[in-house]
Amino acid sequence: MKRRDCFRDRSSGQRRYDRSILARLAVLKRAKDCGFTLDEARQLFNDQGRPRKRWERVAVKKMAELDELMQKIAGMKNLLEKRCRCADLEECGRRILEACAGQLAAGRRPCEPVAGRSA
Ligand SMILES: [Zn+2]
Repeated sequence: MKRRDCFRDRSSGQRRYDRSILARLAVLKRAKDCGFTLDEARQLFNDQGRPRKRWERVAVKKMAELDELMQKIAGMKNLLEKRCRCADLEECGRRILEACAGQLAAGRRPCEPVAGRSA
């Protein structure tokens, strides 16, 4: 940190930062609130070009990640909403395998590894 960026307030002893540091911290906070990793936030600061372009580059990638995550969450919610009517866990497992084999037969990606096949 450059010397002029920070000084101690004699009366309170607290650190005071100048406006440019506060602005950078606000950008960093926003990046964090957007779910950016530290590397992505760093990219924001290190990239060339206008801020709009810098945000866009990282945001496009992050939004695709969030879409994928939302699909995963929706899938998890679907599974959690299923009601079990099995007599025991073995029946549960058998039903899960049957459902997965059915998905595979229908040409969809199986939800669980199917015996004798690699997932
Ligand atoms: Zn069950």
